[in-house]
Amino acid sequence: MPDRGSPTSPQGSSSPGGPGDSPLTNWAGNIGFAPERFEPVASLEAAREVVAAASRLRVLGSGHSFNAIADSPGVLLSLSGIEPEVVIDAERREVRASGWITYAALGRAVHEAGFALHNFASLPHISVAGSIATGTHGSGDRSGNLATAVAALEFIDADGEIRTVRRGEPDFAGSVVHLGALGVVTAVTLDLLPAFEMRQYAYDGLGFDAAVAHFDELTSAAYSTSMFTGWGADPSFQFWTKQRAADQTQPFPPTQWFGAPLADGPRHPIPGVDPAACTEQQGRTGPAHERLPHFRPEFTPSAGEELQSEYLVDRADAPAALEALRAVSERLAPVVQISEVRTMAADDLWLSPAYGRDTVGFHFTWVRDYESVQPVMGVVEEALASFTPRPHWGKLFTIPIAEIRSQYPRMGDFEKLRDRVDPEEKFTNDFCAELLGGSARLHSAVPGGSGRSRIRVRLFAHSAEP
Ligand SMILES: Cc1cc2nc3c(=O)[nH]c(=O)nc-3n(C[C@H](O)[C@H](O)[C@H](O)COP(=O)(O)OP(=O)(O)OC[C@H]3O[C@@H](n4cnc5c(N)ncnc54)[C@H](O)[C@@H]3O)c2cc1C
Repeated sequence: MPDRGSPTSPQGSSSPGGPGDSPLTNWAGNIGFAPERFEPVASLEAAREVVAAASRLRVLGSGHSFNAIADSPGVLLSLSGIEPEVVIDAERREVRASGWITYAALGRAVHEAGFALHNFASLPHISVAGSIATGTHGSGDRSGNLATAVAALEFIDADGEIRTVRRGEPDFAGSVVHLGALGVVTAVTLDLLPAFEMRQYAYDGLGFDAAVAHFDELTSAAYSTSMFTGWGADPSFQFWTKQRAADQTQPFPPTQWFGAPLADGPRHPIPGVDPAACTEQQGRTGPAHERLPHFRPEFTPSAGEELQSEYLVDRADAPAALEALRAVSERLAPVVQISEVRTMAADDLWLSPAYGRDTVGFHFTWVRDYESVQPVMGVVEEALASFTPRPHWGKLFTIPIAEIRSQYPRMGDFEKLRDRVDPEEKFTNDFCAELLGGSARLHSAVPGGSGRSRIRVRLFAHSAEP
């Protein structure tokens, strides 16, 4: 997160439209955090003391979420000043790393030891613990979201003690995608693959009809694929494939996909933008951590000013959902910088957006003008409504909370887990209180209010409350 200064007062705004007068904002600058106290710590011991003493506390990761999920009504803790640790267990093919490490640093470290992470998000600047907490994902038909690599998580509990949750234990599937509500993650243990090399190719002008008709052939064409479009009157896609070098049996990639020719140079997802910030394309072989993210760690990614939303639906519905979006394509174009279509394998993590279903994600990088974007977000949500979309936990959405809750069959179990591990709701905030309920009524609650219905938060870019 860029240094936007330290907060000097608890004043601020959780509105997705602007930071209000808070000097501490998220990466995009559209959320001003409003904690009572921002607390960067220099050691884990200090973190444990701060946690034990606080009545309310949340952790700020790298601040890349677009809504107020990371905000705190009490202490906002940052661990990112502590030197991260990485310990590789080659025999078990696992890495144990500090939660606040970035995927860029972790990808590099495991590569140097002869290993690879199974996937990456579009940019590697994000923290591992923060990404796992929100169910962040890359793309790949057979690749689960980033949280599916978790073998264990170590939390600081409300009393300052360390609690470890390992794969195979009863609480595990509920604890991995946790929205920051189960404690402070100090360390993550992730599964490793043997290091592998990849090649990335871009194709121009994939017709919309071809994308719909051949969706399965396209997304299964490589280890990871992405389709990008800016919508408009006659939308088409840029199609990216990321293949394992070992899987590439022919000396050259296909020269075209359903009429879309291999690009004659490197591409940025947004047509016309300089691709210098993008990872190597045109089939140049390189390690997985330098091909799976779209953006290089040494560049500020994307086009700059932006907001983001993403909706995840059953991949069996991908062709119909694409058609539903095409029907509103001209409404989208004026406020969309770029959209991306990615796939993920189903998983069993209770609050994962890919829980129980192979998934396709429809991502929207919007212009940074919340007032113009909000109604169009509603257009997208209406278009996708019959496909039971699950919004990305770290991005903007306006779907009513009751609908979101109904998309997650284990939501009630997650609430029970949260009530058991954090009965005083130390780790709650407005976002979690509105989603999970409970006794906590926080800083943006209406004075005198006593229940979920009284909270007027725009945490999710939320307009459901009057
Ligand atoms: C330019 C850009 C590109 C993106 N691309 C993708 C993409 O390709 N795929 C995708 O799925 N998402 C993507 N995202 C969204 C991003 O991955 C998520 O918002 C992710 O949560 C960001 O991680 P973070 O560390 O910044 O988390 P934050 O936003 O800081 O926090 C997110 C949540 O995690 C909690 N948290 C953070 N650290 C800890 C900890 N140590 N212990 C306990 N809780 C913690 C916070 O309290 C909060 O609830 C993108 C975002 C941006 C800005």
